[in-house]
Amino acid sequence: MIICKTKNEIELMRQAGRVVAIAIEETSKHIKPGITTLELDEIAADVIKSHDCIPTFKGQYGFPRNICISVNEEVVHGIPGHRKLKEGDIVKLDVGATYKGWVGDSAASFPVGKVTPEAQKLMDVTKQAMLLGIDQMRLGHYLHDIAEAIHSYIEQFGFSTVADYGGHGIGRKNHEDPFVPQSRQKTRGMQLRKGMCLAIEPMINMGTAKVHVITDKWTVVTDDGKLSSHFEHSAAITDGEPIILTAR
Ligand code: MG
Ligand code: MG
Repeated sequence: MIICKTKNEIELMRQAGRVVAIAIEETSKHIKPGITTLELDEIAADVIKSHDCIPTFKGQYGFPRNICISVNEEVVHGIPGHRKLKEGDIVKLDVGATYKGWVGDSAASFPVGKVTPEAQKLMDVTKQAMLLGIDQMRLGHYLHDIAEAIHSYIEQFGFSTVADYGGHGIGRKNHEDPFVPQSRQKTRGMQLRKGMCLAIEPMINMGTAKVHVITDKWTVVTDDGKLSSHFEHSAAITDGEPIILTAR
């Protein structure tokens, strides 16, 4: 079931989203070789709680930490732990915050120290793909226009897009209908409506599109071990420009 949000509800989601943006920005300042992903998790949780929000992912489907942190070939759902970041890694912070029952969800990829030009390119292309996807969130467009915008952009660079995961509706729950694919679809999907709020989150791989879950039952990794990048914003459909809810 698709739940369209009122203007007031979108304003509450924007407040949740603003805290997500602050948490990502503040946590990212601590990204450097030697820091553990668990330390980053705790920094993010402190920022979220200090803004009267709840870390949404803690306990969601049984997730053990506050945010998801995925490194290099890890695509999404990495569990923060004692792994230390190394020079040249790329690290993805995926943060959810709940404010007065409304959720914001956003992710970004960051270099650890100096990374290869190829790694930087992958991150730049993924961020741009997300923005192109969000730009499709307009009345008169269809859900799969978002996937087409993302897919047709990233394939020019020889990258691949993960078919098994994607974006989602968002509101009182982090995951609402519809599923938002990021890979080209054979149909156009549903027509977009005013008040729909969607998390657009391309996961773009340097090599194969194929991924699998490792033995921790959470972390999704690329089959070929090559790098993956992830960017995400939650955004709302209006009768004009889409509103990015997780911008600062
Ligand atoms: Mg997310
Ligand atoms: Mg999401």
